Amino acid sequence: MARYTGPVCKLCRREGVKLFLKGDKCMSHCTLERRNTKPGQHGASNRRNKESEYAKQLREKQRVRRTYGVLERQFSKTFHTAANRPGRTSENLLQILEMRLDNLVYRLGLADSRAQARQLVNHGHFAVNGRKTDIPSFIAKPNDVITVRERSKGTEYFKTRALLLAQKGVPTWLSLDINALTGRVVTIPSRADLELPFDEQMVVEYYQR
Ligand code: SF4
Repeated sequence: MARYTGPVCKLCRREGVKLFLKGDKCMSHCTLERRNTKPGQHGASNRRNKESEYAKQLREKQRVRRTYGVLERQFSKTFHTAANRPGRTSENLLQILEMRLDNLVYRLGLADSRAQARQLVNHGHFAVNGRKTDIPSFIAKPNDVITVRERSKGTEYFKTRALLLAQKGVPTWLSLDINALTGRVVTIPSRADLELPFDEQMVVEYYQR
């Protein structure tokens, strides 16, 4: 499956905000905090010119897309799925992105970042409702159960992870059984459940322009 393989800090520098693409590592060593310039620009020349409405909408779309690690085409498809659902398109969009399997693995604390979660899913470490699922873009539903597969539970990675999980919490819309390394989707999160610094309405405006 296609994915972005370039330097991730460059994406944060391009957007001018921390996208936390390296997970916990972003808390201690952040490139953006040391060097807040756009890629290819230096010092004072980096000052933002007045942005057009279109440029703002584009940047917001890129922030959301890059945060979830979704490529352009798939993001556009996700948007159109969101637009065809009842309710607010902006909220639908975030809900679909949050229900992706790679995002859920990250939210459950089973990976440090969405990129790592995607790799773990690709490598076949998870089952959904008892069935091996290695598609990061798999969209889960309420009551779906995400489990680390039996043969993966004995790996060093998941043994260490189980110890770390005790110090982490999970969002209220998910539940986690640390001993069984099993998570459950309690409900679809509402916008208020998601502490995301996006103006997702601008993403809607971007696609409706
Ligand atoms: Fe972004 Fe994390 Fe790199 Fe900071 S360390 S620039 S938040 S990916």
